[in-house]
Amino acid sequence: MRVFKFGGASVKNADAVRNVAHIISLYTDRPLVVVVSAMAKTTSSLENVVQSWLSQNENAIPLFKDIIEFHHQIALELFPNNNPELDQSIQDIFDYGKTLITSSVPENYSQAYDALVHVGEILSTKIIHYYLLELGHKSEWLDTKKIVTTNNAHRRATVDWEETSAQIKAAINEPNIYLVQGFIGSTKCGVPTTLGREGSDYTASVFANILQAEEVTIWKDVPGVLTGDPKVFSSPILLEEISYREAIELAYYGASVIHPKTIQPLQEKNIPLFVRSFMNPELPGTVIGRGLTLKPFAPCYILKKNQALLSVATRDLAFIVEEHLQLIYKLFHEHGLTVNTMQNSAISTSFCVNNDPNILPKVVAELNPYFSVKLNEEVELYTIRHHNPQTREAIRAGKNPLLEQITRETYQVVLHS
Ligand code: ASP
Ligand code: MG
Repeated sequence: MRVFKFGGASVKNADAVRNVAHIISLYTDRPLVVVVSAMAKTTSSLENVVQSWLSQNENAIPLFKDIIEFHHQIALELFPNNNPELDQSIQDIFDYGKTLITSSVPENYSQAYDALVHVGEILSTKIIHYYLLELGHKSEWLDTKKIVTTNNAHRRATVDWEETSAQIKAAINEPNIYLVQGFIGSTKCGVPTTLGREGSDYTASVFANILQAEEVTIWKDVPGVLTGDPKVFSSPILLEEISYREAIELAYYGASVIHPKTIQPLQEKNIPLFVRSFMNPELPGTVIGRGLTLKPFAPCYILKKNQALLSVATRDLAFIVEEHLQLIYKLFHEHGLTVNTMQNSAISTSFCVNNDPNILPKVVAELNPYFSVKLNEEVELYTIRHHNPQTREAIRAGKNPLLEQITRETYQVVLHS
């Protein structure tokens, strides 16, 4: 059994879908689970629809129509003579979404988000499934919502391993190609959930763990895992091998090639994870597994954008003690605010957090009665693994750090963006 994961960029248009089908056709000697994300930037576009829906502006329907039309065009290119079943699937999703966003504005933002945003993955997998069938492959489309059971922590749901395991084993038992949606699931009652942005990698790793797959391959638009995002850092190099442990560290600090939760289920079953280029499928890419920390050994750079520095101080200059921290973290947890780094001083604590406009203002409002809160938006968090004085200097580049932290392996600095 192999598990493949294809991200949004690998299925961004009709040609890309043809390329994905080509890669799949090279690996039909064993059963294959294919996890697919939403096409191109669909998830972000659906997020915009949710914003419009919740703010009751009239753009919600036109924006949603654009998304449907985008998929419809891809279907048309792949099936010049039409595919009525696929057309019907796309129409059903349109009807579902339209009914949703013309209904009354929901109270629970995260639940509304999941109800709409999950359709991106349904659309992409339907298109690829019908295209594989057209090419003569034994493709089976699975509804991940019926297979991956989660708790009801919307937008960041946690997988219920016991139920999911039984459901996956029941659904996948033939030597077929199984098309499954990444990133999504549903509660025990069948309410759609999502696992957090970029969560499809994690879905792939859940399926691989439960099915005892021999390998997982994530097909990307980069040659493998690099020492930095080439869009941000100049001349990063390709890492041929990374240990599970190091990969977890890199993902934790925000290396966007791997979703933070992806590695652990693979490590548990000693399943190697390959990161390879869908543009050059003949290249070996990177393998993450037991073994060398990094090959070649080199500093790795990570940037987290859209951060805010939240400084929380006691109003009466009292020390910040465990009791305060408990209250602060409880609030963060309730709202789902992610802390990326923090630093304590006598009377204040600074948190570098994701600057999420739907969450942060609420957290600040709830902290205000107890603490004096300062918010520094428009900051970025840089992390260097295996740093040295030169690499640290290069990142700071004469700027004034707002927060800085050094351990033996990891350097972090918050800078104005
Ligand atoms: N489509 C989702 C996202 O863009 C999940 C994923 O791609 O992994 O975040
Ligand atoms: Mg994606």
